[in-house]
Amino acid sequence: MSVEKMSTEPSAVTPIGPPGDPAAAIMRAPHDAPDNAVEIVKLYKTYRGGNGQADKVALRKVDLDIPRGSFFGLLGPNGAGKSTLINILAGLTNKTSGAVRIWGYDIDTDTRATRSAIGVVPQELNIEPFFTPRQNLELLAGFYGIRKPQRRTREVLEMVGLTEQSEAYARTLSGGMRRRLLVAKAMLHSPPVLVLDEPTAGVDVELRRNIWECLKELNAAGTTILLTTHYLEEAEKLCDRIAIINHGRVVICDTTGALVRRVDSKELVVTVADDVDAVPAPLRRFDVELLPPRRLVFRFRRSETRIGEIIDALHDLGLIIADLSTEEGSLEDIFLQLIHAPSEPGEGD
Ligand code: ADP
Ligand code: MG
Repeated sequence: MSVEKMSTEPSAVTPIGPPGDPAAAIMRAPHDAPDNAVEIVKLYKTYRGGNGQADKVALRKVDLDIPRGSFFGLLGPNGAGKSTLINILAGLTNKTSGAVRIWGYDIDTDTRATRSAIGVVPQELNIEPFFTPRQNLELLAGFYGIRKPQRRTREVLEMVGLTEQSEAYARTLSGGMRRRLLVAKAMLHSPPVLVLDEPTAGVDVELRRNIWECLKELNAAGTTILLTTHYLEEAEKLCDRIAIINHGRVVICDTTGALVRRVDSKELVVTVADDVDAVPAPLRRFDVELLPPRRLVFRFRRSETRIGEIIDALHDLGLIIADLSTEEGSLEDIFLQLIHAPSEPGEGD
């Protein structure tokens, strides 16, 4: 990929997201930008039990591509493996096997470059309560070894809408402002990829919107965003691609549009009292299939057809309904369906 001019200092002494320069260089070289901001290949993670405890497999053969510029949602219930995946990307947890590339750099062989390419907002709030947002960022910049002239403290505060609060004690900030301060900390070294672990968990509706706006703006400005959430609405509103993860497995990964279209489609299965040889002509205006001898399967979009219309049409034909069932399609149902069928393969396997 791109030419590197980085020293090979031991990564153990490097905090997450090291010096500003390499990342800035990465941002400034769009011709080097990879198609996928993150590539994950056959990733496994097993937490070793110890003390007689059983091992815990947290990630099983995860394959994921996160296109550059996308707003990607990793959706899954508690314990699905979301934080484990994020922490591996962040370099906070070691993977068991598989390959991970961030901005084209391998996390095993180009550790420093991968850490420069990513900014991470962890699940828990870690800010210095007695410092102001500006001091929090200055402190971190110093920790990263970013020299004063290169620091972007003001710019980053502006980016997350905390300019007015830049001199207030962090402990006096609202929950939403604290989250945005965390986003600012993650963006301080100008990473092209921003990763957030449940950024709006426990945040009220208004502040959630506020964080959403902030993330949308960062994405519009070119930052690839990966967030984990267990809020379906959040994934649907913000993300252009969604992967659903359960029991450490990706059960589906698709564009949000495609997922929502699935949701819009509904199935009605009608069993009639008497055998039918063919779909009666008046029913052919519906998308209907005959499962001989007595079952009719109607597929339709909730947004376009009501069940009542189908029932009326059956009545008009004098067909007696012996049984009737529907396949529901809210994103929630699809989600539940998928997470209760953990062995179901995801698309594109
Ligand atoms: P999520 O973020 O989706 O809620 P996690 O990645 O935190 O899921 O956890 C995935 C699974 O791995 C869970 O079963 C959890 O109990 C287990 N797990 C997470 N961290 C550890 C750890 N440090 N040691 C052992 N098991 C862990
Ligand atoms: Mg988690």
